[in-house]
Amino acid sequence: MPTDESISPESLTLDVPALEEYRHQGTSLAVVGFPIRHSLSPVMHMGALREMKKAHPALAGWVYHRIEAAPEDLRSVLEWCGSKGFRGLNLTVPHKVEVLPWLDKVEPEALRMGAVNTLLFESGKVSGFNTDGAGMAIAIAEGLECRIDCMDVVLIGAGGAARAAAVQCLELGCRSLWVGNRSVDRLNVLLDNLRGHYPKVELHGFELGGNGATVPSGALLIQATSVGLKDEDALPVDPLLLARVSAVFDMVYGGNGTRLVRTAREMGIKACDGLGMLVHQGAKALELWTGLPVPVECMKQAVMQMVDRKDERS
Ligand code: NAP
Repeated sequence: MPTDESISPESLTLDVPALEEYRHQGTSLAVVGFPIRHSLSPVMHMGALREMKKAHPALAGWVYHRIEAAPEDLRSVLEWCGSKGFRGLNLTVPHKVEVLPWLDKVEPEALRMGAVNTLLFESGKVSGFNTDGAGMAIAIAEGLECRIDCMDVVLIGAGGAARAAAVQCLELGCRSLWVGNRSVDRLNVLLDNLRGHYPKVELHGFELGGNGATVPSGALLIQATSVGLKDEDALPVDPLLLARVSAVFDMVYGGNGTRLVRTAREMGIKACDGLGMLVHQGAKALELWTGLPVPVECMKQAVMQMVDRKDERS
């Protein structure tokens, strides 16, 4: 059985052929995505597990991997993991929506979101959950000191992360929700789904390229597109729209914040990136798999160390 000391960040990464050969006598966890090599989740979860193992010897054999799997391999990855002693998986881009038909059970909130980021293998069945929304709400409360229930929310994006954000904001009772996305078709699918679940809420779609003149001033802006992952990426919203909001939460993260976060701060708008969300969605998933309280601070420190190291290299 590998010990923490024998596990290097590289050895935590499995591709599909490696998964077929995979043998581990303890309990395995993983994040599945494509691409996945950049993911901080293994370091973050191993940081928490290392601490939890001190008080809970039953966790001694628990390890957390990355699994690189293209969409066409996702189904066989689920089957392999189910047969190889995996307790849980996190799913990231591009798997959160496509996985739904293959699950035995999906918790009601994840069903409303139409996206799943956490799987639990139990008694031969696979259940789906979504911890992104709850992780985001905690990160917004901590990082921006904003109460979503008192605010108009402007959400950018209509992918898996945006679906979770939208449902979370509506569940928390935001005043109104304005959603903008590059692809109008995808935007309309999201809006139709939300209207079906929340018929009484004030809900609007808007053109992403516009200046946002119609969005309410003083709103909370939530950025849930993949724009900003690369430093050279343009701002995901028009600066005139940005000037109308009072706080910015960017789900993308980076050591110095993202371009959106830096620009918002220069304009005097409070802003934070998605590191806090990464930590809190991960903590909620680990709590679900272990049934134990999770040392969130250890996860935060493990992630911060990795981000700082990357900044030193760049
Ligand atoms: P996804 O399902 O693939 O959706 C991607 C979204 O980004 C879509 O709305 C897409 O618009 C938009 N987009 C992509 N490239 C764009 C561009 N060049 N210009 C404008 N819009 C563009 O991905 P996801 O799961 O929702 O994740 C979105 C982002 O959130 C990712 O960066 C992910 O890492 C981040 N995230 C962070 C956390 C965290 O814990 N911090 C958690 C979840 C997700 P179209 O519909 O027009 O293609």
